[in-house]
Amino acid sequence: MIAKKVMAEIEEGRGISQMFLDAVALTEKFGAENVYNFSIGNPSVEPPEAVKQAIIEELNTQKPMALHSYTGSYGYADVRNAVADHENKKFGTNYTANNVVMTVGAAGGLNLIFQVLLNPGDQVITFTPYFSEYKCYTMNVDAELVLSGTDGNFQPLLDEFESKINEKTRIVLINSPNNPTGAVYPEETMKKISDIMEKKSAEYGAPIYMVSDEPYRYIAYDDVDVPYLPKVCKNAIVANSFSKSLSLPGERIGFLIIPSDVDDYQEIYNACNTMNRTMGFVNAPSLIQRAVAKCLDAEVDVKGYEKNRDALHKGLTEIGYECFKPQGAFYLFMKTPLEDDWEFYRRAQKYQLVLGPGSGFGGPGYVRISYCVDYDMILRALPKFKELWDEIQADQK
Ligand code: PLP
Repeated sequence: MIAKKVMAEIEEGRGISQMFLDAVALTEKFGAENVYNFSIGNPSVEPPEAVKQAIIEELNTQKPMALHSYTGSYGYADVRNAVADHENKKFGTNYTANNVVMTVGAAGGLNLIFQVLLNPGDQVITFTPYFSEYKCYTMNVDAELVLSGTDGNFQPLLDEFESKINEKTRIVLINSPNNPTGAVYPEETMKKISDIMEKKSAEYGAPIYMVSDEPYRYIAYDDVDVPYLPKVCKNAIVANSFSKSLSLPGERIGFLIIPSDVDDYQEIYNACNTMNRTMGFVNAPSLIQRAVAKCLDAEVDVKGYEKNRDALHKGLTEIGYECFKPQGAFYLFMKTPLEDDWEFYRRAQKYQLVLGPGSGFGGPGYVRISYCVDYDMILRALPKFKELWDEIQADQK
């Protein structure tokens, strides 16, 4: 018999499993070219050529045992040094290798820092809509995810946020550019959030950490500024990865930045060493650690995503759908013309459209449309969205 906690996590992920199953069933029935699968967040832009070259170079120059052995729980020192230098160059910080932990993707980094910072019953606040796995990551440590609302442009409601903080609040989890909305939180907002955290932290006599989950940092459009949170908030810890910035999600490589001036820095950093091992991650994969260290200045071509965003946003709004224009990431969060997003999800399948019901992201009445897909698929799908719209309008008359 499986554990009760596992049953709860399976229940939590049922929506996502359903989307996968439905996409497979539709593909079997209609063929891949006739199914418009907008449900998955797998990058559609190729990794930069520099990644392939770096992997080949590592294979050709390193001795196998040096390449494939354990790396120490923090990751290779020279790789951490390279990451620290890169962050310093980009953000004017002063990091050394001792502010960096190489992790198994951003997800590994989040789970690691949650293990290190959270006691059972502690609370993590995040803004809705949110990346649904956060619920499971907090459940993993018997902590609680507390949701705080956003406005019509998916920007945090600050009064509500302040009211949600209590003596159990340990982490404020920020995801900007955001999955599933594509919203970016401006520096002014982040400063206000940080001020509230500092005030509440003093009131309750315990640190509250900001954890910035930022795998989409480099996928932003129209020159929007994505603020660097350790510059805005004293207690900010960064979880980043190369899953989207270099299109390497399956390689499971990312990093945590723990700045030296966060409260209890040394204790936290030391604990990461132990917990990376005891959680079973042991270390981030060794070959790809070395390869990404050589590609820190490389970037995927974001123009492809931008072209998709523009075509999808324009096409959907012209039909009549209400959608916020994403500023980053590769998701569009669209208001459903039916109140029940699951009902809309089912109706969309009549047209072989597979979408992500917003309820699963704490955003009922919306669907997430992942536009990390072929541009042509977007063009072929738009007439299907139109047929769906017309059918619903006709019903509502
Ligand atoms: N955080 C957010 C908001 C994500 O969307 C994802 C993946 O899609 C992750 C974290 C996990 O990223 P990684 O693949 O680097 O573990």
